[in-house]
Amino acid sequence: MSFGRRRIWLIVPVFVFGILGSGIVAQTPVNKAVSDDPEFARVVKEWTTRPDFISPLVDHLPKVQGVPSPKDVLGHYIGEPKKLTYYNDILKYYRALAAATPRVKIVSIGKSNEGRDLVVVFVGSDESIRNLEQYRTYLGQLADPRSMTAEQAAQIIAKAKPLYHLSGGLHSGEVGPSEMLMELVYRLATEDSPIISQIRDNVIVSVTPVADPDGRDRNVDWYYRYGINETEGRTTGAGVPYWGKYVFHDDNRDINYSQVEMRSLLDWYFQYHPPIMHDLHQAQTLLYTFSGQAPQNPNLDPILYGELPMMANFEMAQFAKYGMPGVWTHGFVDMWSPGYLAFMSSNHNGMIRMYEIQGFSGANTQKMRLGNPNAAGGRGGRAGGAGGDDAAAAAAGRGGQSQREWFRPWPATGEFDWSLRNNTNYGETGVITALQYTSQFPKVILENFYVKSRNSVDTGRKETVAGYVIPAGQRDMTRVERLVNLLRMQGIEIGRATADVKLQEGTFPAGSFIVKRDQPYSRLAKTLLEKQVYPDPSLRTYDDASWTMGLMSQTDVKEIADKKILDLAVDPVKEKEVHLAGRTTGDGSTFAVAHYGSNNMVTLRYQLKDLKVQAAEKEFKQGDATFPAGSFVVSGDAARVKRSVEALGLTAVALPSAPQVPLHDLDLPRVAMYSTWGNTQDVGWVRYAFDKFEVPYDLIYKERVRKGDLKAAYDVIVIPNQGGSGKRLVFDIESRGQSIEYKKSDKFQNLGGYGESDDITGGMGLEGVAEFDKFVKAGGVLVTLGSASFFPAEFGLAPRVDAARTSAQFYAPGPIIDADILQPEHPIFYGYDKKTIPVRYASGPLLSVQTGANPFEGPPPAGPPPTPQSVLMRYPGGDEHVLSGLMRGANEVRNRAAIVDQPSGKGRVILFAGNPCYRWQNFGEFNMLFNTLLNFNDIKTPPERPASSTAGQ
Ligand SMILES: [Zn+2]
Repeated sequence: MSFGRRRIWLIVPVFVFGILGSGIVAQTPVNKAVSDDPEFARVVKEWTTRPDFISPLVDHLPKVQGVPSPKDVLGHYIGEPKKLTYYNDILKYYRALAAATPRVKIVSIGKSNEGRDLVVVFVGSDESIRNLEQYRTYLGQLADPRSMTAEQAAQIIAKAKPLYHLSGGLHSGEVGPSEMLMELVYRLATEDSPIISQIRDNVIVSVTPVADPDGRDRNVDWYYRYGINETEGRTTGAGVPYWGKYVFHDDNRDINYSQVEMRSLLDWYFQYHPPIMHDLHQAQTLLYTFSGQAPQNPNLDPILYGELPMMANFEMAQFAKYGMPGVWTHGFVDMWSPGYLAFMSSNHNGMIRMYEIQGFSGANTQKMRLGNPNAAGGRGGRAGGAGGDDAAAAAAGRGGQSQREWFRPWPATGEFDWSLRNNTNYGETGVITALQYTSQFPKVILENFYVKSRNSVDTGRKETVAGYVIPAGQRDMTRVERLVNLLRMQGIEIGRATADVKLQEGTFPAGSFIVKRDQPYSRLAKTLLEKQVYPDPSLRTYDDASWTMGLMSQTDVKEIADKKILDLAVDPVKEKEVHLAGRTTGDGSTFAVAHYGSNNMVTLRYQLKDLKVQAAEKEFKQGDATFPAGSFVVSGDAARVKRSVEALGLTAVALPSAPQVPLHDLDLPRVAMYSTWGNTQDVGWVRYAFDKFEVPYDLIYKERVRKGDLKAAYDVIVIPNQGGSGKRLVFDIESRGQSIEYKKSDKFQNLGGYGESDDITGGMGLEGVAEFDKFVKAGGVLVTLGSASFFPAEFGLAPRVDAARTSAQFYAPGPIIDADILQPEHPIFYGYDKKTIPVRYASGPLLSVQTGANPFEGPPPAGPPPTPQSVLMRYPGGDEHVLSGLMRGANEVRNRAAIVDQPSGKGRVILFAGNPCYRWQNFGEFNMLFNTLLNFNDIKTPPERPASSTAGQ
């Protein structure tokens, strides 16, 4: 730390708008407040495990009469070993601080799933906070530059201040940043060093203290229950089964903002328009600062791709100057998917920033061993496959992270202890440095925000794609409504055509939804609606390669090059959400409700659960309306039927009597959803969808399965994607000899949410497998999704089905590909009118079905076997069937089964190779799962073709 106390003067930049031209300097904080807290300096030094793991920015803390420091409220300094703070205490601290100083203000933005207050904390100079409303208005004006000239924009920029948003605790197991932010906000409010004063004057900082507070408290409980007692070589080996109500890491992949915590932040975003949003994560060695590596989304403004490394490089240089090793950029996360939470900023012409700070899931000091240069993962891309979590990525890359690279000029190496305070030191030093940069160039940040917004408006006239039409009159308008509302939620302007529209691309009826690309969020509209053309198949991506909304929802969206679209007369959709009411016509007490593939059909069935509802097995006509197979025939309580049909956006005709077609009763199944204790997240997404579509179910675990007699309680059991293999699904968390309980108690109020267990380890085991087999043979329907479909194939529940894996060369991070429906009469396809549909590829098993004789006897047949009737859908495979995103080695899925319906005993196993209920995203596929539920006891065994005599039996 020889450097820290020297005074540095940087050259004062000349600003475009000149008003800050005087007196802006950067220097290390030599002028400490005389009232620094000596006890803070002493313990922080003690908790910092090496002298080079701290900077002069954070080795001291002011003590100010009347303004509470974190210790004054929490009783301990930030970063104390074995101390983590519950959310309520975090809020208590910020509220006490806001009550004591005019420099801090708190706004409420909603409630979490479990009812905790969601807040944003602002900190800035007295003047900034007093005039927050005015500064908010300036940013709103810059976000939509259509209403002003460049001169007017310059005037606003001269008066405005950038809002820099920081967020911690999005990933609940990454506990450090939410602790650090309390100290940071206190420091920003109280310290008078030149750097902090400059930040306070020139920047307004806003903070999400904990993005997932429900998960925070559950993790803190888990830490105090188990983690605190862990020592090296003796770990419990299991994390807490739940973070938030539904998801773990995927709250950072929630591209459609389904989770209320994410949605609340998005709604807040449109009130304040922060030009920078910086998400603080944990796990990389020692601090990774994101700079947007390839593959990059080409729709985003080139200014952004300059800004990102500029800030990251400034941080790297400052850390090096402070003598702190292990800070790097590039080589970890790319700029492809727009679904990360802080991407809401880049998506709206601002800047996403992200750190990964070295840390553990608790507050224990632990040994780190670095320096195996042969370990994988050091170079570009990321070592593992798509998905996964920070910790797994870190494990894959850790060895490589001690290699010197151009983007990692000074890696951390060797063996050392790492403490929670080290995590605080690195995180807080980084954030203050980023804020220092912003306070040095506030006008550049604002000007860039304005110009990026203006450029986005210009894209409609300059670029090939001028807009999009979502045609009216589509068969299922409920998915159109959802798509339109998801775009509206993201601030995208949409109008409805006031008359028929004639464009080069075709004629579209009045009422069609028009997205013009001469609007501030035109780049985002293109990003969400276009086909993703992956720039380089040799590059890996951190998450999904595609998300094309029209394909995901199986909704018709037309890309328009004809510039005439920009001048079309439209009625702007003013409401935040449109509602396209359904329609009932005709007279009579029996209703035919058309099944056009709407996911709301299942909701209708449950809303009318006490009425007789049947499904037509063949298409029929009534007047000029055609009712496809699967349409509902409902009798009784006409007023209620009408109300539900119209509210759900469906189409019905009242008939004098039931139509003359074969019908079957849509009995309501007793549904269970099975979850392991070790992989609850993808189950969470299916739970979320079932909850939203009002499908009741029991969430069951190994405890219930082992009790047996499943058929007495359930008709259908769904096993969502989880585990990655049949073995993992069956044996789940490895037992290390001691039981790990997940239960609510007086001391641990947050444990036991969504199920309890005396011991979450060990999995259902073979006795569980036997119970599932009994369930099926007794007439139950077992539905497995994605990687859960390895289980029935590998454990003999579906003995004719084989589940293979793709080769090591194959790489497919969630592309959208074609799937061919082979058995269009099967109830699972009610509502689908096309033979080939777009589906998201989920990296599940490569399924195939053996035909003919007992599969356990004799050699396999030579040559390509016939496709058995039990294969309901299959992937044609090959590059020509990749619709969006990347599938490297697309021939490997050629003619592989996508859905198999395998009878067994009195029941059946339905295996989906894909995941038809993925992250509230592939709405076009949900319906196959819902059809399976509603028709569970009306699926007829597909007759197998006799074994071919030439097939070598
Ligand atoms: Zn994270």
